[in-house]
Amino acid sequence: MSATQTVRTPQTQLADSIRRGTDILKWSSQGTWPVVDLAIRLWLAQAFFVSGVLKVGNWETALNLARYEYPVPWIDPVTAAYLGASIELVAPVLLALGLATRLAALPLLLLTLVMQHYYVALDEQLFWAWLFAGYLVSGAGPLSLDRLLAPGLADSALPLASAASRAARWMSIRVDPIYRLGLRLWLAGGLALAAIASAPHPWLAGRTLAVMPQALALACALLLAVGLATRPAALLLAAAALGAGMAGAPAAHLAWLVLLLAGLLLRGGGAISVDRLIPGLLERVLPGYAGPSSVELAALPRVVIVGAGFGGIACARELRHEPVSVTLIDRQNYHLFQPLLYQVATAGLAPSDIASPIRELFREQRNARVLLGSVTTVDRERREVHMDGKRIPYDYLVLATGASHSYFGRDDWAPFAPGLKRVEDATEVRRRLLLAFERAEASDDAAERDAQMTFLIVGGGPTGVELAGAIAELARYGMAQDFRDIDPAQARVILVQSAPRILPTFPEPLSAQATRALQALGVQIMTHSRVTDIDDAGVLVNGERIASRTVLWAAGVVASPAAAWLGAEADRAGRVPVGPDLTVTPRSPRPGRDSRFPGSRRRPSKAADTQPASLPRGSRADRRLRPSPTGIRAVSPPSAARPPWSTSAGSGYTALRLGGCGAWCMCSSCWECATGSPSCGTGSGPISPTAAARA
Ligand SMILES: Cc1cc2nc3c(=O)[nH]c(=O)nc-3n(C[C@H](O)[C@H](O)[C@H](O)COP(=O)(O)OP(=O)(O)OC[C@H]3O[C@@H](n4cnc5c(N)ncnc54)[C@H](O)[C@@H]3O)c2cc1C
Repeated sequence: MSATQTVRTPQTQLADSIRRGTDILKWSSQGTWPVVDLAIRLWLAQAFFVSGVLKVGNWETALNLARYEYPVPWIDPVTAAYLGASIELVAPVLLALGLATRLAALPLLLLTLVMQHYYVALDEQLFWAWLFAGYLVSGAGPLSLDRLLAPGLADSALPLASAASRAARWMSIRVDPIYRLGLRLWLAGGLALAAIASAPHPWLAGRTLAVMPQALALACALLLAVGLATRPAALLLAAAALGAGMAGAPAAHLAWLVLLLAGLLLRGGGAISVDRLIPGLLERVLPGYAGPSSVELAALPRVVIVGAGFGGIACARELRHEPVSVTLIDRQNYHLFQPLLYQVATAGLAPSDIASPIRELFREQRNARVLLGSVTTVDRERREVHMDGKRIPYDYLVLATGASHSYFGRDDWAPFAPGLKRVEDATEVRRRLLLAFERAEASDDAAERDAQMTFLIVGGGPTGVELAGAIAELARYGMAQDFRDIDPAQARVILVQSAPRILPTFPEPLSAQATRALQALGVQIMTHSRVTDIDDAGVLVNGERIASRTVLWAAGVVASPAAAWLGAEADRAGRVPVGPDLTVTPRSPRPGRDSRFPGSRRRPSKAADTQPASLPRGSRADRRLRPSPTGIRAVSPPSAARPPWSTSAGSGYTALRLGGCGAWCMCSSCWECATGSPSCGTGSGPISPTAAARA
């Protein structure tokens, strides 16, 4: 059956629409929660910190309060005053930073409960208590130091570190559903009682909840108790609370209630709720809601995507709601976040930090399957992809096989100057870098020492610039005190560029900014310079010999052999001309018949792309798969910002040009990274929060 023959019943259309709606809701709550979480932490922190500062500033009053206003029977007043003030000064700072959040939330929770019990019973304190309990159970959200440090801490040899991270995970998985059930029941009880009882209960926030219209309070109490439509109920209550605040009800209490409801609205009612049963019920009522069954998939048009880099992944993700069966093939079982390869190469990150299992990314996409294998060619006549002796049939073929380095015909240079494209390259570069310092330390020969401490990077594009900056940083700061006979800071880092300036594809001011930043790190930049030979002793540049034991190649890339698979015309870099919708027209059987190829004015792009910024995003182009004569498409990766790079990169958007800190912040605060979405142009969700944040 072809795409045009696919029959979409009203039932499937409804299932599709619901699934799309759920996806949008899920995405928007995932995107919003980090900010709301940060806002809650900051607000809670300021409330307690200010109180702590006031107490310390007026210690006599603090003592009197502890002694007379809210004496706690089981602790003497002076100790209580000291303890209270310490908690109020230290824990809020940790809470605001999201550092040891659970540990900070515990004393704040206890303090709040003590105040509620021994001092004045206030609704505000009850809302705080629930918020602190939430942080105790689930920790802080993505915009926190805890999230940044968690992976490293879990792997560290610090005593109790792995036990603590296991306990934290256990709390999030096992205790969080109980917490959310408790919160829902407490709110439901409070709402019901406030609606029907005349006297508000001090532990059920009756005074605040009494502002809700009676019918709404009762209906929402029922919904929250069973966990049905929790998010809409929370939304309605929050809107009612805001309305009441505007109408003159005590705004401070209501604001805390709204924040508490925001948690339910954005995170849902938890695992112990009727809401959790809805997808299963919908699947029964609307077959196809969770995606097509394997029988249905077999009847759908087959889209085969080769390559699970940025391009392939974005394309497969975009097709998640389309009536097609997607097969994603890659020769590795992980997606590699190439922009941070240089961090692995300079020992800043571990390889696992930038590699993410492809299967995991498509766990929930029912119309996609992932195959591990190396594609060797394409049979256009039969519409089959050849993969490790197997034939995979397709109706539409998407090629997103990327590029590898090119030595411009001098492949004999490869052993002396590794490039940076795969994880293996990065670990090899790291090995060479670290060994060079070791050999320099062990050598008694001054010339050999100099050669070991000279790092030469060929190519002043983004990768070369990143590498040069990272190596210089590593030498200057990363190993400053590690050696006795050599000073790593004296290492020579040379960046050789044949063009008149580095980053030639970037706007000139960004290139100049990068030059200044690299020079500030001590990198020697040689522009207008051509490398004419490389061997194990060094490099010949402009006829001059530079002794260097570590030469790195960042000078050129060549597209994968996709053009040969298709029998398509390609330029010297292996790039294939494509149409505006990225379709590829293979070489015409009759010479001259196909106007897109030789003689055509169309600028060649890359089928297996490298950095075709001018091409439309693969995801957009493939949003609706229109039948094409060949069914073959090339996919470019989504255009992306420069990486979160700390030395000198810039961010070259069409309308917005950022450099240095601005570019770093722009990329590292990318929402999709923070929320773990795999569709980011620069990253790939689950891996990038750690990686980008660490960078
Ligand atoms: C060091 C470095 C830093 C970079 N920094 C940035 C940056 O900061 N910002 C930016 O926008 N871009 C950056 N880039 C470029 C960016 O990473 C690439 O443009 C992007 O990865 C290309 O995506 P892609 O999907 O086309 O190809 P790739 O990401 O290369 O993916 C191709 C996939 O195809 C698979 N594959 C290839 N051949 C076969 C086969 N025969 N059979 C099966 N599978 C196959 C590969 O295993 C791979 O998974 C950087 C690149 C490098 C190397």
